[in-house]
Parts: sequence; C-alpha cells; structure tokens
Amino acid sequence: MLNRPVSAVVPFCALVLTVAPAVADGPFYGDPPNATHPWAVHDMNRPQPPLVTPGTFSTAEQPGRPPSDAIVLFDGTAATLDKWEADKNPAEPTKWIVKDGALQCVPGSGYIRSKDQFGDCQLHVEWAAPTKAEGHSQGRGNSGIFLMGQTEIQVLDNYDNPTYPDGFAASVYGVNPPYANALRAPGEWQIYDIIFRRPIYQDGKMLDGGRFTVMLNGVVVQDATPLEGGGGHKGRSNDHPLLDKGPLKLQDHGNPVRYRNIWYRLLPARGIDGGDMGALSPEAATAKKLVLAKSIRGDAAKLQGQAKLLRMMESLCYELDAATGKEVASGIAAWVTAVKQTPATGMEAKKGEIMQMRDAVKYLVQFKFLPEGLTALPEIEEIIKGNGWEKR
Ligand code: MG
Repeated sequence: MLNRPVSAVVPFCALVLTVAPAVADGPFYGDPPNATHPWAVHDMNRPQPPLVTPGTFSTAEQPGRPPSDAIVLFDGTAATLDKWEADKNPAEPTKWIVKDGALQCVPGSGYIRSKDQFGDCQLHVEWAAPTKAEGHSQGRGNSGIFLMGQTEIQVLDNYDNPTYPDGFAASVYGVNPPYANALRAPGEWQIYDIIFRRPIYQDGKMLDGGRFTVMLNGVVVQDATPLEGGGGHKGRSNDHPLLDKGPLKLQDHGNPVRYRNIWYRLLPARGIDGGDMGALSPEAATAKKLVLAKSIRGDAAKLQGQAKLLRMMESLCYELDAATGKEVASGIAAWVTAVKQTPATGMEAKKGEIMQMRDAVKYLVQFKFLPEGLTALPEIEEIIKGNGWEKR
C-alpha cells in the first residue's frame, strides 16, 4: 500500500466518510502486536521507510552515482585518497596512487584501510585487474576487500585463470567459492555489491555468525554465506566474536589492481543487535510497545470526540493500561448513549462513524483488549441492524 495517510489523521478522515469499511491503512485491521512483534500487521504507527534517492549504474566508461545516503570512500578524486591510510603505519599516508580516476595499488606498498570504521553494511566496490594478464592462479590480478579489516572477499583475475575455488574472485576467501565465474576480461571494470552482517555474540554465546551476500557484475555469487569465522589462508577458521566495527581494507598482493566508485551504506541493526525490525525478544518487544502506547495516547490527547476515543482504543493494542481501559470503556458507553439519542433523520449521516466504531470495538473484543462481555458491542450491532446497514 502506497501513499497512505498517517495514522493520526485516519480517524478524522473516517469521520467525513459516508461509509467507513475496515480499511487497510487504518487501525483495527491486521493482527495486533504480540509478544515478539511490537507492531500490528499493516501497522501505520510503524515508521515510514526513509527516503533514499537511488544512484545510477556504472558503465564501462564511467562509474555510476551512489545512492543519496551512501558514504563515499573513493570517488575518483585525489581528495578522497585522504579517506584512506596505510594499514601498517596509519600515521603515514598511503602510497597507493590515484591515476585516471582510479585508486591503484602500488605493489609492495602494503594494504590500505579506510579511516571510517563500520560493521553491517551494503558495500559497492568496482575493480579492474591489469589489462595484460600476467601470472597464474593466485598470482594474477590479486587484491582483496577485507570487511572490518578481517574477512576477505577475494579480488582476482579469474577470467581465464583457474585457481582453488574458495580463493576465486568473489569467494569468501577460504570459506566459500562464488556460485559462478561472472568476470569480465582483465582491464574491464568488475562490480561488487556486497551485503555484510557481522557476527554477534552475547555473553560468549553466538547469536548470529554473520554472513555475506555478494553480487558480481549483477550476478548473485554469495547468498547469505555464513562467515564461519571469516576464513583465511590455509587454515580453517572457527566462529569467534569480532569487534562491532572496523576499517575496510584493500589488499596489496603484489599486483597493480585498480579501484573506483567505493561507497557503503549502513544497514539497520538486527533485532538481536538493538534494532526493531522483524521479531524481537519479548523484552525488547514489550519495551517498544510501551513507547508506542505512550506516543499514541499523546496523539489522542490532541484530538477530540470519536477520533480521540478511537486513538485511545488503538493504544490498548500496545499496552493494556488500566486507566486508559477504564476511560475507553466509559467513552464507548457515552458514545453509544449519544448515538441512541440521535434523531432517526440524522442516523444516515452517522453511518460511517457508527460502522467504524463497530469494527474497532469488535476488533478489540476479538483480540481481548476489551472484555468479551462488553455490552456496547451488541448494542452497536443492534443499531446497525435496526438501520438495515448490516449488508454492506
Ligand atoms: Mg586477495
């Protein structure tokens, strides 16, 4: 559903409708919050996704533009070289050079690393092996992209160059080969789009071992591949905690590999990492629901009449606050009394709000946010039946 009104105005909108069926963009519609989900299904109280202006795709001739919220690490200018430092001697500027809009490894100068430190991310990197293919296996166009400085997505010219599969271009080095060899010829730009989730440990217990998803030139070659500790050369690694963030490192493996258009976007935290997407722990879900209930009650305080009552009713889905429950019960009773006193000639004009209140009360009773024996519900049903509105 797109372009839906914010929930705060839904009750008001409903008041001016002549007919108010249960609508997908209002409350009392999808399953309510539960023990591990702080939001209802289709909950308009949930924040709207932030706006991001998409970038443009790269061509062979020129790099594309990053999305608007990307953090650029190299854009082809010498100025962005300042975002990098030598890995072994960070006080020294990197000896890698910027040439023709590319960041080029100077063999023997050592790894470089970003001054930025980050963990979970979407990372975009473009690289090109030397046009003249020299060497073989791991000795041809070798570099590497180390997330958090620790685990390598291999950079290697495997265009026509077999090597051990778990050391192929776009492998999680020493852990998992890429699903396919989708490389372009040496000298051409190769595009990596990487989604990285770091391992998460709590009290020494692994909650999430971390994973890589990688696209090579638009082809999926790693799909949530477990880190298994991050891999490495010769030895099999084991799952272990890592720091929460670290620098991006680019490898000097003795080949003048070039890079361009390097940027990353930070990803929302997972539920186990303090985020609020997906299923949460019962404690985190409860805490979030209390915040939502307070916010909704705050909205209600700014409203009047039925809109206020409906918003208060909605808050009960997040917190069965006793005082609010009592106020809601008396509010519904007063609303029913007022409707009963409406002259018959004025009932049709109230049809929308009456149907809306019936749906809301019915929902809250169904999901046990209001008592099953609430007399208001059959009373409202009777009013609807009496006016012949039951068949909508
Ligand atoms: Mg390498």
